[in-house]
Amino acid sequence: MASLSAAISRSSSSPCFPPPNPNTASLSHHRNIFHSQCRAFPLSRPSLFLRKGLTLPPGRESQSTRICASVADVSLNLSVEEKQLPKGDTWSVHKFGGTCVGTSQRIKNVADIIIKDDSERKLVVVSAMSKVTDMMYDLINKAQSRDENYVAALDVVLEKHSQTAHDLLDGDHLASFLSQLHQDINNLKAMLRAIYIAGHATESFTDFVVGHGELWSAQMLSLVIRKNGVDCKWMDTREVLIVNPTSSNQVDPDYSLSQQGLEKWYSLNPAKVIIATGFIASTPQNIPTTLKRDGSDFSAAIMGALFRARQVTIWTDVDGVFSADPRKGFEAVILKTLSYQEAWEMSYFGANVLHPRTIIPVMRYGIPIIIRNIFNLSAPGTKICHPSVIEDEDKQDLQNFVKGFATIDNLALVNVEGTGMAGVPGTASAIFGAVKDVGANVIMISQASSEHSVCFAVPEKEVKAVAEALQSRFRQALDAGRLSQVAVVPNCSILAAVGQKMASTPGVSATLFNALAKASINVRAIAQGCSEYNITVVIKREDCIKALRAVHSRFYLSRTTIAMGIIGPGLIGSTLLDQLRDQASVLKEEFNIDLRVMGIISSKSMLLSESGIDLARWRELRDEKGEVANLDKFVHHVHGNHFIPNTAIVDCTSDSIIAGHYNDWLRKGIHVVTPNKKANSGPLDQYLSLRALQRQSYTHYFYEATVGAGLPIISTLRGLLETGDRILQIEGIFSGTLSYIFNNFKDGRAFSEVVAEAKEAGYTEPDPRDDLSGTDVARKVIILARESGLKLELSDIPVESLVPEPLRDCASAQEFMQQLPKFDQLLSKKQEEAENAGEVLRYVGVVDVTNKKGTVELRRYKKDHPFAHLSGSDNIIAFTTRRYQNQPLIVRGPGAGAQVTAGGIFSDILRLASYLGAPS
Ligand code: ADP
Ligand code: ASP
Ligand code: MG
Repeated sequence: MASLSAAISRSSSSPCFPPPNPNTASLSHHRNIFHSQCRAFPLSRPSLFLRKGLTLPPGRESQSTRICASVADVSLNLSVEEKQLPKGDTWSVHKFGGTCVGTSQRIKNVADIIIKDDSERKLVVVSAMSKVTDMMYDLINKAQSRDENYVAALDVVLEKHSQTAHDLLDGDHLASFLSQLHQDINNLKAMLRAIYIAGHATESFTDFVVGHGELWSAQMLSLVIRKNGVDCKWMDTREVLIVNPTSSNQVDPDYSLSQQGLEKWYSLNPAKVIIATGFIASTPQNIPTTLKRDGSDFSAAIMGALFRARQVTIWTDVDGVFSADPRKGFEAVILKTLSYQEAWEMSYFGANVLHPRTIIPVMRYGIPIIIRNIFNLSAPGTKICHPSVIEDEDKQDLQNFVKGFATIDNLALVNVEGTGMAGVPGTASAIFGAVKDVGANVIMISQASSEHSVCFAVPEKEVKAVAEALQSRFRQALDAGRLSQVAVVPNCSILAAVGQKMASTPGVSATLFNALAKASINVRAIAQGCSEYNITVVIKREDCIKALRAVHSRFYLSRTTIAMGIIGPGLIGSTLLDQLRDQASVLKEEFNIDLRVMGIISSKSMLLSESGIDLARWRELRDEKGEVANLDKFVHHVHGNHFIPNTAIVDCTSDSIIAGHYNDWLRKGIHVVTPNKKANSGPLDQYLSLRALQRQSYTHYFYEATVGAGLPIISTLRGLLETGDRILQIEGIFSGTLSYIFNNFKDGRAFSEVVAEAKEAGYTEPDPRDDLSGTDVARKVIILARESGLKLELSDIPVESLVPEPLRDCASAQEFMQQLPKFDQLLSKKQEEAENAGEVLRYVGVVDVTNKKGTVELRRYKKDHPFAHLSGSDNIIAFTTRRYQNQPLIVRGPGAGAQVTAGGIFSDILRLASYLGAPS
């Protein structure tokens, strides 16, 4: 068995298979152009044979191998003039990932992009068609586990490529590709058979097999480009890239040998468009190898460096590097720029959009990498370059200290603990020496400064061996009690926050940990590299996505993102929703205020959303997706979202039961905004405890729209009080309805007639007695009285009702309206008396702060008094204060109606946002 596998390994290591070379595709068919094509033929293979002194195994010569030999002869005869490689920024390097070449249509697309790139010289690195590398690994796995199905699986690979070639090519191009493909498949079949018999595949054998996907995609792409009339050569990078394997999943490029290989190759293939295989390379011993999974990015970067290219564009299936894995992150955003360091940290910590090794080769020469989406050419992508360039181009982004987050799953934490470790030199070395001996990869290390414990993360699959190695290495210390334990914490993940100098910026890590704490995530270990580009935390695996979302939203959502729950989508509530809909984008773009309505609830149904209801469609959505109303569930949903830093409930009802919840909500940190008067005009102790709560916490309670709708009445009063003025009296016309009625109750008109007119115009409640009774005005008076510091109950306010005593118990509004004219006399008399005295009647609410009283009554005012000159349904409020003693401070304007009331609530929401830190 051993000798068989050695034999396989040797045959795989010899590049004995004919180079599948469409660069010479027409050779075998058109001998007459053979000579002119000679220079295009990659001589490096035969020359490598010569260099290493290898001989072709018997029976391996194919037609093209024979051609190789003759071309080699030609070159040795110096009939080929070697061309020097023109390095520098005339070269632009592209790399197309597997998804970019996943179908024949996509390969055509790629060809278009290459042809349209107007760079003088282009080197294109291409991956295998998507899934093909997986399929190739699967062949190996099947064969070595002696599963016969490898044969059928190989047929699928053949069929996939043959079908794609048929779609793309025709004539000689197709024939030569297919002939090469069949030859490769036959060889693979033989090799897999050997693996099947051996029950084992060596690493180099595996690498040789799995690299075929790239060989085929590169050849097909180059033929499609040629078909479009553009001359191009394809490069089997095993002839150029020389790497030294350093571990089972890493290789180090040998730049000097690769440079030689490239110069040699180029001298024989001096093309302006080169299609190169990603992923594959050779060792200095000329054994085929790979750059390991996802290594094509790395291939492109090495090529970029060898060519000293102007830039390397990595084409993939996303718009660029996102601030977090778009499959896991919450509303991840595209990063316009990243420094090399940041990109490295992101990719090292799991952002698989870029292979971690990609950065180093290009960084050496300051070659920028651009990550772009092949499916969205309009997206500019992410540029990865030196920070100095970013600083020039994108000043704002540098201020953004956290660029992104990445996660690695399937880790275990090993904790070596004990008092005997402190101050003992060599402990760390002994620990990591033992870890190295079992070949485990340490992903992060953290040691407390007390030196009491060292903990580190390793891949879950390696932890058992690591723990055993440590147990045996420290047996004595454990027995002697110098070490208390070697503990393993399984099922962990790493979350890394990456950003230029983020760790050195005060407050950044605090915010990170704060966000984790708010989402109730326990941090098991922390590491901060002294590069300060990265803070890494180890958390439980099941918390990983929650943690990622929590920290991401904390840094990427605006500080003033507010999750809102709207209660009562009636006239005012729905007007508010419409206003929010119309203004949302301006607020977001210009003021960085992001208002998300996460739920809308009425007395019967509710609509909930995870990320914000589309306010253009909330009515339809409610009909489609609404569920039975449940206030507890509603509040829990709106507030339970850990990703949005603030929650506000907007109560647009006039319900006292809802108002009864404010206390509880404020206690939970939920801000409350409302036009509902019930809480502030309800029992005094309830009001006082609400206000106390509001003052003790940083939770806000705003209720501007409870008095005068959108007019700035509460805020004016607060402003006066907070700046040390003393309120003497507040007197005002607080009811739009009664304002309208008394503004029009003149010129001998009957009171009932004016009431009927107001009702008709929609200024009154359905039952006008609700306005005429004065209770609503009394509630506003009590709100202002309490705001001014008076400790009054609603029942302490005498209210002059305008509903005649006998009509208070009328069954219906209609009956009331019918009966009302009978009592016109009463008010007509008062009106006439006033008129005769040169005065008008006004229904007012008064807060007499000096005498600690409030009242609601009809009062007479001189015709030149500001209250006498109102129109429509205007409200007017006069504040007489120590500062405004002779001339009261007056606020006047429309004080009722859905638009202005909703506007008042909206401005409270914005006030909340500004308290939370929105820019002014
Ligand atoms: P390709 O085959 O083109 O090399 P990959 O699958 O290797 O593509 O990488 C692209 C994928 O990386 C994206 O589809 C995306 O799902 C994933 N990804 C993970 N993290 C990130 C990130 N931070 N930004 C962008 N993409 C990411
Ligand atoms: N085809 C290889 C892989 O899937 C390399 C790459 O696509 O980057 O791992
Ligand atoms: Mg990739």
